[in-house]
Amino acid sequence: MNPARDHLLRQLADGRFHSGEQLARALGVSRSAVWKQIQRLEADLGLAISAVRGRGYRLPAPLELLDSDRISAELSDAAKDTLGAMSVLSMTASTNGCASADLPMESGCARVWLAEHQTEGRGRRGRRWVSAFGEKLYISMAWRFDMPMTELGGLSLVAGVVVAEVLAHLGLEGHALKWPNDVLVGRRKLSGILVEVSGEADGPATAVIGVGVNFRVPEAQGAQIDQPWTDLSRASPVVMSRNRMAGILIDRLIHACGLFSTERLRPFLGRWERFDGLTGQPVRIMHGKRSIDGIYRGITPSGGMVLEEASGCSEYHAGEVSLRKDGDL
Ligand code: ATP
Repeated sequence: MNPARDHLLRQLADGRFHSGEQLARALGVSRSAVWKQIQRLEADLGLAISAVRGRGYRLPAPLELLDSDRISAELSDAAKDTLGAMSVLSMTASTNGCASADLPMESGCARVWLAEHQTEGRGRRGRRWVSAFGEKLYISMAWRFDMPMTELGGLSLVAGVVVAEVLAHLGLEGHALKWPNDVLVGRRKLSGILVEVSGEADGPATAVIGVGVNFRVPEAQGAQIDQPWTDLSRASPVVMSRNRMAGILIDRLIHACGLFSTERLRPFLGRWERFDGLTGQPVRIMHGKRSIDGIYRGITPSGGMVLEEASGCSEYHAGEVSLRKDGDL
């Protein structure tokens, strides 16, 4: 985003009225230049800025913009030592895309990308992730593992555990994990995770862990999401800070990747169970065009899920199937 627009946004972020004259002074431009920049903010970022004669311009609600100093302040010394680079962007096609284009060359060293807005955010199998400027948290972290790519399957579950634990730490209650990695409140999706792996079959391999958390989804935008969704403004009893959550998430993801490197999924299995929302419940899995009904019996030590069918129990892996609670279709 150009510096003038960035500056204007920072002025408006408090959600209060700012007169055209005051903004023009702060930016060192004319009032008509301010008006043009306001129009660009609306057109490019989808922000609904109200203009009231005699009072000025304001955003519908305050925006807590991402701030790398505030994010870094939440990192432990160990995480700071491990963090190779962190980039905070206003807008990008996809933070996973940025991370994939700049993979770390050494093991045990994280690179992190955050953005206020993604224009081409994606989910598994190319599905679309609906975005809005400043209303979500998008973090992608790249990490190189000295292990074969095939052993990184469980990493989606690790990321899910970390997100669920951080949300609980910050005061959210009643949320659950849906295998392999969605975070739901009730049956509504609050956060999605996308892990993309690349590398040699026998290692090393690099994973990009992408996390999206809904802070606020405007109704009109929610109408574009084709499954039940929620956001923290609706689901959380406390107001959470995006910068604080970003810092804690990065800190815990770094720690989790280190632990996964040496111990694989084992330390995370019990932590997953604490949040597993579907154990013992009727579910349906979709395998291509086929659907199979059964009872969800939790996860295996390698991160697969166990489905109990009339003929017995079978294990399925995240790359091949999607899971739905029976009745959600
Ligand atoms: P799976 O169980 O296979 O992971 P999924 O439908 O949850 O299935 P993902 O690839 O994890 O799929 O996420 C993409 C889906 O998430 C989209 O198809 C859409 O239904 C939903 N979605 C998109 N944007 C949002 C959002 N901002 N909040 C909640 N859900 C969203």
